Amino acid sequence: MTKPNRPAGIMTTAIHAGDHPDPATRASAPPIHMSSTFLSDDIAGFSAHDLTPDSPYTYTRWANPTVAGLEAKIAALQGTEACLATASGMAAASAIFFTFLSSGDHLIVSDVSYAGVAELARDTLPRMGVEVSTVNMSDPASVAQAIRPNTRLIHTESPVNPIGRLTDLAAISKLARQAGALLSCDATFASPLGMDTSALGVDLTMHSITKYIGGHGDAVGGAVAGSSELIGKMRAEASIHHGGILSPFNAWLIARGATTLPLRMKAHEAGAMAVAKWLEADPRVTRVIYPGLASHPQADLAARQMSNMSGMISFQVGSAADGERIAQLMIERLKVIHYAVSLGHHRSLIFWMGTDGLMETSFRLEGAQLADYRSFAGDGIFRLSVGLEDAEDLIADLDGALG
Ligand SMILES: *Cc1c(COP(=O)(O)O)cnc(C)c1O
Repeated sequence: MTKPNRPAGIMTTAIHAGDHPDPATRASAPPIHMSSTFLSDDIAGFSAHDLTPDSPYTYTRWANPTVAGLEAKIAALQGTEACLATASGMAAASAIFFTFLSSGDHLIVSDVSYAGVAELARDTLPRMGVEVSTVNMSDPASVAQAIRPNTRLIHTESPVNPIGRLTDLAAISKLARQAGALLSCDATFASPLGMDTSALGVDLTMHSITKYIGGHGDAVGGAVAGSSELIGKMRAEASIHHGGILSPFNAWLIARGATTLPLRMKAHEAGAMAVAKWLEADPRVTRVIYPGLASHPQADLAARQMSNMSGMISFQVGSAADGERIAQLMIERLKVIHYAVSLGHHRSLIFWMGTDGLMETSFRLEGAQLADYRSFAGDGIFRLSVGLEDAEDLIADLDGALG
C-alpha cells in the first residue's frame, strides 16, 4: 500500500514512469503537447464537477498529456497514487492551503519554512479567516499542544529551508490522525529519493520541482503527491478554478530532468558529504549543519527517516558582519559556485541569509522558537546547494572565498 505506483526499481521508474512511445509516430522520446484545447467527440459538460479520472483531454487547464506524464512520473517516484503539477512550488503550497482550509479552520504550520510559505501562512490565510499556529515541528510535544478541535491541516517541511532542521514525520502523522487533520510535508530539500513520506504517514507531499526534480535550473514548477481522492479535489479547486497550472513546455523539461533524479541525488549526496566534512574541518567555519554529518543535532532521526541526505548544507562563519563580509567576497571571487538563490540544480548555488533580516520579513519568531532557530543558524547562514561538479573544485572555490 505504501508504493501503489512503483512496480519497478527506482532508476527504471524514473526513466519509464509516465513516459510511453507515441502511438501515432512511434517516437521513442515523449512529445510536447502544446495544445490548449482538444477535439471533442462528445457533448460534454464544462464544469470541474464533470471531470473524472478517465475523462478525455478537453482543455489544458483541466489536464494535458505532457503534464499528465510528468505527474505520473512524480507519483511513481514518490510512491503515491496520484500527483498534481502546478505553475510553481508556491502554487503547490497555495493549492494545498486553499483546497483544504476554509474560514474558521485551524492550520498548524512549521515556524520555519520556505519564506513564501511563511508569509502566506502568517499574512494571507488569517485575512481569509483561517486560524494559524506557527510551531517548532522538531518538537512533537509542541505540535500536540497546538492542536485544536478545528485543526484541519498540519503543514511541515523536512529538512526545513533554510536551516536543515528535521521533522519526525512518523510522530507528527500519528498526532494528525488522532486529530482528524491532514499532514502535508514540503519535501523539496529531500527530493522524492530522500524520504518515503507515504510510509511515514504523510497525506500530501509537496515539492518545488524547480529544484531537484527538474534539476537543471531552467524551469519553475511545483507538485503535490498523494491519494487519488485528495489529488482529485486539488485538481478541481487549484487547477481548474484557481488556474495555477504548469505549462506543457515546462512539464516536458522537468520530466526530462526527472529521468536522472536517482543518479543525481546519489551524486549530490556524495558531493555534499565531501564538502560538509571539509567545511567542518576549516577553522574559518564555526558551524556546519548537514543531515549526513554525525554532528547534526538530529543525526539519529536523519538516519532513521532519510534514505538520501541530499545536497543542502548550511554553515556559519561567526557574526552577521563576518557573514556579510564573506558573502561580498564570494560575489567577487567564486568561479564555479554561483552566488544566487534557488537550489537543487546541477550547478552549485550559495546564498547568505542573515537571521535578523529573515526574522523581520518572514519568520517573526520570539522566545524559545527564536532561540531554537539561533541554535541552528546563529546570526546567519550560508545556504549551499551542492551541485554535480567535482567536490575538489567546489572546495577550492570555497577555500578561496572564505577570506
Ligand atoms: C523554492 C521552494 C519553494 C517555492 O518553490 P517555487 O518553485 O520557487 O515557487 C517552496 N518550498 C521550498 C522548500 C523551496 O525550496
